[in-house]
Order: sequence, then structure tokens, then C-alpha cells
Amino acid sequence: MSIVAKFGGSSLADAEQFRKVRSIIEVNSERKYVVPSAPGKRDSGDVKVTDMLYSCYEKVAAGEDITELFQEIEERYNGIIKELGLALSLHKEYEIIKNALQNNAGRDFAASRGEYLNGMILAAFLGYEFVDAATVIFFNEDGSFQPKKTNDMLRSRLLQCGNAVIPGFYGMMPNGTIKTFSRGGSDITGSLVACAVTADIYENWTDVSGLMIADPRIVDQPKIIKTITYKELRELSYMGATVLHEDAIFPVRIDKIPINIRNTNRPEDEGTMIVSEVDNDGGNTTITGIAGKKGFSVISIEKAMMNQETGFGKKVLEVLEKQGISFEHLPSGIDTMSVVVATKDIAGVKNELISEINEAVHADSVDIHNNLALIAVVGRGMIRAKGTAAKVFHAVYEADINIRMIDQGSSELNIIIGVDEDDFVSAIKTIYKAFLG
Ligand code: ASP
Repeated sequence: MSIVAKFGGSSLADAEQFRKVRSIIEVNSERKYVVPSAPGKRDSGDVKVTDMLYSCYEKVAAGEDITELFQEIEERYNGIIKELGLALSLHKEYEIIKNALQNNAGRDFAASRGEYLNGMILAAFLGYEFVDAATVIFFNEDGSFQPKKTNDMLRSRLLQCGNAVIPGFYGMMPNGTIKTFSRGGSDITGSLVACAVTADIYENWTDVSGLMIADPRIVDQPKIIKTITYKELRELSYMGATVLHEDAIFPVRIDKIPINIRNTNRPEDEGTMIVSEVDNDGGNTTITGIAGKKGFSVISIEKAMMNQETGFGKKVLEVLEKQGISFEHLPSGIDTMSVVVATKDIAGVKNELISEINEAVHADSVDIHNNLALIAVVGRGMIRAKGTAAKVFHAVYEADINIRMIDQGSSELNIIIGVDEDDFVSAIKTIYKAFLG
């Protein structure tokens, strides 16, 4: 039995947080592999170490001096080391990193040092072996991730050590330079480690007690989701829910390793379980989550007798493909076709798009409407439950909100509605209320 525990930046922001992490690890000896982020914000006015390191890189690129800024970074780490009473000195490491930065080491190298140094401290504090991610996580020449080599190396290396700390966020390129995942990528490292050691569970420790059913900035104190499937989470993350990095599901998904989102500040809370499937939902028919995003546009194409033309949709999509634009949804009628796209993707090419679509399909009209917000109401229970859609639409109707678009995937995992951006917040509030009171 083994558990992989990943701790986010707020869980390791200062010595007090390190102590909480150690108590969590000590409670369960199965927590053998630990993946830390870089120290995060200690309070709302604070700066994450990762951001300070990015600033160092930018300063060097602009020909500016980094002495003071780098000193601040050293002080953050030294403060933690001192308060924890560790007999550890990172002075040599600081020298090497500072030198590399001053000699234009890459942007990714700069950012990765946040996790690297934090990992060293955490390993010393826990008495775990430190395994540099650059020796076990690999990227290809073109920057894409290399799953096979990573999995093999991680597995053989980690099964050798009893307990290990593997810093999150980065790995190595074939030429020996450092590359990071995208922001928040320590979640991916945790998932890779969990997959490599076939962990029983991947715990992702953060500063909230799980995923919330809706964005707490919109709904006041939303309830926590107890169990969610990978598929549902994917739908919600795509639509803007942000507790876990979007790509962190893929490695563990293959072996169906559950992810448990937990709160370092409230370890007694059970958090959210993210699982492959749920066998018995106890007749639970409520929705799992609501998420949404603004910033969409609809390209509406009308042509009489469109339904009799074959290849109509293909021609329209080819125009988009040529412009490098991907579409989000394709709600269609008999003589109408709508293509929902991100507004930012069509900025600057609107007129071209209209005339190219006209040319391709000789439409009666092609119009583009902006200010569309999409809201996804996600729930595995929808397949069995009747009336979910009715409840969503009724709630939105009661709130006097006009629905501009509806889309329900055939998987019946979600219902997507499009509303005016001005109605976005009230639509989410009203849907939440309809299902959860
Ligand atoms: N420290 C990195 C970031 O701030 C990676 C992470 O925390 O997951 O994005």
C-alpha cells in the first residue's frame, strides 16, 4: 500500500505550514512519496516564490541586477530552515542558481528552482530521500512530455527508496536543460508519481476542503463535492473550475487511481474523491457541479434547405480550420448552423470569416454575435434522472434570463447553456439554488 501526497504552495508557504505537512505525513506511514510545490503566498499581499523567480529571469533578460530580489528568495528559504531548526545549508545551491540565472539560464530553469529548493528542505525535514525531478521526469526534443521513459525511470528509482520527496513542476529535456509543465504543474508531477508506483491513492493537499459545487466567488459558501468522476471533473475544469491542473487526471486515469483533494489546514475534513466510476450513488440525482466561462461568440449561418445539402458543415469547419480556430459547440437547426468559438480567437478576422464562409456555402446570412457566456451543469446522475434539464431551464426562466443556446452531449453528463455575459452570475446562482437550495 502506498500513498502519494502532493502539497501545494500554500501548504508549504512557511515553517508553520511545513509542520502541518509533517504531522499529516506522520499520521500515516503509507504516505511514502511526497511532491511539493514552491512556497506560495503567506497572505494576500505576498508573492509566490515561483513568481519571484520568473521576475529574476525577466530582470536578467532586461539587463537589470537581481542581487536584491534573489536575496529575498534566499531569505524566504533560510527563514523556513531556521524556524524548523534544520541543520541544512542551501548556500552552495543559491550560488549555483544565481550564477546560472545571471548567465541567462532558461526561464523554465529559473521557475523550477522554487520546487527544487523547497523539495530539499522538505526532504530534510521529513527524513525522506530527495529525488531530483530532472533525473526521473523527461521531455522530448519538441517539448512534449515523454511518458514511457518517465514512468520507467520514476518507477525503478522510487521503488528503490523507502520514502522520497520529488519536487513538482519540472523535468529534463534531452539536452539536459530544465523544462517545466504549465503553471500549477506540480499536480501533474504528483499524478505521474502516483501512476509510476501504482499508488492506492493520490492525495492532493491544498487550502480548501475539496472541490466546490460552484465558484465561491459567485455562490456564497457552496457545498463541497464529495465524489466526482474523472470525466465530470474534466468537464468542470474545462469550463473554468481550477482546484486541480487540467492535465493531472490523465496519468492516474489509466490505472484508475483515485485522487483525494484535501485541506492541509483542516486535515480532518474528508475532501473530494475523484474516481473513475461510481457504482452506487445511493440514488443521488442532484448535479455534481456548475462551472462557466465568459468570452464566447456565436457564428450563425442561415440557408434555406440547408438540411438537404451534404457537406455543408464540413465546408464551414474547413474555413475555421484554415484560420486555425477551434470550435467549442455546434448547435444546429434545420436551416441554421451555429458555431460557438472563443471571442479572442476570432478577433481581427471576423470580416474575413464571414466572407469566407459565404463563399464556401453561399449562405443566406452569416452573422457573428458576441458576449456569450457558457455554463455547464455537470452530473453523472443525469442519465438516470428525469427532469434535470427541465429544472435548469425553469430556474433560468424564473430568473428572467434568456437562454441563447442549449447543448446536451450524448453522454448525458452535462447540459450546456449559453446566456448573455451580463446574466452569467445570476444564472449560476439561480441554477445552484434550484438544485441545492
Ligand atoms: N510553483 C508552480 C506555480 O506556481 C507550480 C505549482 O505550484 O504547481 O505554478
